[in-house]
Amino acid sequence: MNGTLDAVEVAAPAKVNLALLVGPLRPDGFHELASLMVPVTLGDLVVVRRTPGEDLVVDCAVCPGERNLAARMVRELEARLERRFEVAVDVHKQIPVGAGLAGGSSDAAATLVALERLFELDLSPRLRYEVAAAVGSDVPFFLWPGAQLAMGRGQLLKDVGLVAPLSLVIAVPEVSLSTAAVYGWRDEDVRVTLPDFVPRARMLSSRVAAARTLHDIAALVENDLEASVVARRPEVGALRDRLLAEGAAAAAMTGSGSAVFGLFTDVEAASRARSRLLAASRDASPDAGGVLPPGRVFCVTDLQAAPEDGAHPWAGVRPAAPSGAPRRKPRPARRRPSGRPPGAS
Ligand code: ATP
Repeated sequence: MNGTLDAVEVAAPAKVNLALLVGPLRPDGFHELASLMVPVTLGDLVVVRRTPGEDLVVDCAVCPGERNLAARMVRELEARLERRFEVAVDVHKQIPVGAGLAGGSSDAAATLVALERLFELDLSPRLRYEVAAAVGSDVPFFLWPGAQLAMGRGQLLKDVGLVAPLSLVIAVPEVSLSTAAVYGWRDEDVRVTLPDFVPRARMLSSRVAAARTLHDIAALVENDLEASVVARRPEVGALRDRLLAEGAAAAAMTGSGSAVFGLFTDVEAASRARSRLLAASRDASPDAGGVLPPGRVFCVTDLQAAPEDGAHPWAGVRPAAPSGAPRRKPRPARRRPSGRPPGAS
């Protein structure tokens, strides 16, 4: 049916770690993690076009060319399938970079989805999972919908149902952090053993399963990397505290930062908090929460799994508009609701 498509566009949502527990370093150089992650309605747009006879081109304002995770996805899939994809990938960035929102990983997952559609690939769940995990620990998360519990180095995923919808404000200070540096700070500050970590990870899993109310979810919010970042970049802590002062039921850094998020009771409360944060930011010094332009404070909701009535809110994969046609607003990537790989619990 799609054999004649010349281009496909896929929306690539950001993620927020509502909870992130960090365990000891593993033999493979990654840390043991336990994290409750949700995709949100802040996203990039990835457009993949056929370019017969041409080499791969990746256009991205932030990270063009082969270093882009979208390019790494194309190359990884080429290696696994032993074939070439003559395509151009345009990555339209909306997700702030180096903020712990995993924009690069989401772009890579969206590229995989786009290639599947464009070339009518019928990849097994195991293969698409393995390709995604080879490109990055956070990439498999974006292949399935809704909130998930991530374990291992972040690649072992389990569906979780949350009370929907969660209204969040994401605020990104003018601080870009390297993920490796932040984990290094954590290792300098805290020595964690597996016997310390495993019971906490199990407890997170059972508290997520038992969570019924927004209050329950708010009680789960924490990030083990936050203290090490706040000690070295106080403006991150100031921004988190600002969200709490604006009425967030809970607030924390996401991933390895520097973005922070606040969880609000409803979208109106979140929207009011965003407005007040922006107004306060106009006069505040960086140490009092940073001076943030509107492009660094977002009011978002999480993207829950398909509702039971079957009306899926994000059939987000579709043919790209012909050039010159008005671009539609990004929607999140369509991801398969089933077919989880054997490795994922
Ligand atoms: P993570 O915790 O996964 O590193 P992050 O949100 O902190 O997430 P990203 O914004 O995804 O980090 O990207 C971090 C780095 O990855 C950037 O500095 C950039 O050089 C590189 N990168 C590669 N591909 C992309 C992409 N598609 N979008 C943004 N950055 C990319």
